[in-house]
Amino acid sequence: MAVTRTFSIIKPDATRRNLTGAVTAKLEEAGLRVVASKRIQMSQAQAEGFYAVHKERPFFGELVSFMVSGPVVVQVLEGEDAVKRNRDIMGATNPKDAADGTIRKLFAESIEANSVHGSDSEENAAIEIAFFFKPEEIVG
Ligand code: ATP
Ligand code: MG
Repeated sequence: MAVTRTFSIIKPDATRRNLTGAVTAKLEEAGLRVVASKRIQMSQAQAEGFYAVHKERPFFGELVSFMVSGPVVVQVLEGEDAVKRNRDIMGATNPKDAADGTIRKLFAESIEANSVHGSDSEENAAIEIAFFFKPEEIVG
């Protein structure tokens, strides 16, 4: 299996509860390496752009409001089959459905305040990484 990259966000519910390190530890334990990381306050326009694929969904407005409600940590993760590896350690979108030991089972507050985002395909990972990082900010 090839070493690939994916994009992760530690969401405002997790930064608010000082869980940046705890979440990152779970990612690292799962075999992912943090090759870029920065804590940012997303603007309304950035959040709307990032989640544009969801703009027709009923929760879009609330999702954008939540994502700008506090700082987030955007990260590039590297590892073997990184997209799937990250989705596996994140757990299901709704923490009620998430498997034991996953980040969302351990830390998420609700389906919306679910602590992490992870790219759902290699194609989207490349788009999302480029949305937040310049190539020289990623050091593998
Ligand atoms: P993410 O894209 O954040 O990694 P995901 O791929 O598991 O999560 P998506 O279906 O892409 O889930 O939804 C994006 C985000 O929108 C979810 O992480 C969650 O914060 C929010 N969301 C999804 N479904 C709902 C819902 N029914 N009600 C409120 N918020 C939701
Ligand atoms: Mg998604």
